[in-house]
Amino acid sequence: MRRTLIAGNWKMNLNRAQAIELARSIAGGLRENSSVEVAVFPPAVYLDAVIAAHPGLTVGAQNVSENGDGAFTGEISCAMLRDLGAVAVILGHSERRTLMGESSQQVNRKTIAALNAGLTPIVCVGELLEQRQAGLTDEVVLEQCRTSLAGLATEQMERTVIAYEPVWAIGTGHVATPAQAEQVHAAIRQWLAGAFSPSTAARIRILYGGSVKPDNAAELLSQENIDGALVGGASLKADSFLGIVRAAEPQAVA
Ligand code: PEP
Repeated sequence: MRRTLIAGNWKMNLNRAQAIELARSIAGGLRENSSVEVAVFPPAVYLDAVIAAHPGLTVGAQNVSENGDGAFTGEISCAMLRDLGAVAVILGHSERRTLMGESSQQVNRKTIAALNAGLTPIVCVGELLEQRQAGLTDEVVLEQCRTSLAGLATEQMERTVIAYEPVWAIGTGHVATPAQAEQVHAAIRQWLAGAFSPSTAARIRILYGGSVKPDNAAELLSQENIDGALVGGASLKADSFLGIVRAAEPQAVA
């Protein structure tokens, strides 16, 4: 049984006081014993403040260095994230792939570093609009999976979360239809079954990301292979983020 995960990527938004306040509102709105797992990913400089202010909240980073320590100016290591109390890290987000030129090989090295440090990697994959229009979606996404997840032992794969985020849906308001998203999620799971095993594939959470909002979340999350959401814009307001969390609770998708 895969536990639904709703993850909020705050990107490079908010100031320190706003980050603490948003975390407070989210933590205060979560139901006790909910079947849904919730995690937030503040800017790295506010991780400490958010974790200290809300120790009960699951908090992660938006990126990490593949290197352990040393002369890597401006970088942050997995050990430093652990030291702050972060438990997860988003890797290979399309903004890092397209704006910072991050390759799947680099995402792979970061994924292994994160796993070795005991962080849960959320590895993002997704096609560009032109690639979808050219009928290349599965090919592009599965190649990103193959390379970004290369060399992982079964036990490591089972500690990894995949996020399918079609690039054309991120921050655009053009959400994938539930059928479009489910088709790619099923293809990823089928690939996992072949690359690892059917039982491993059945355990791995595959999140959907791209313009998820409270009013479209329940239908997306009701799809068999969609195990949660990675949320950008709608995670910056407690009401809309909690609306998505509510939509993920079983009674909302019955
Ligand atoms: C994201 O950046 O991961 C994302 C899904 O953004 P949005 O929800 O704003 O489309």
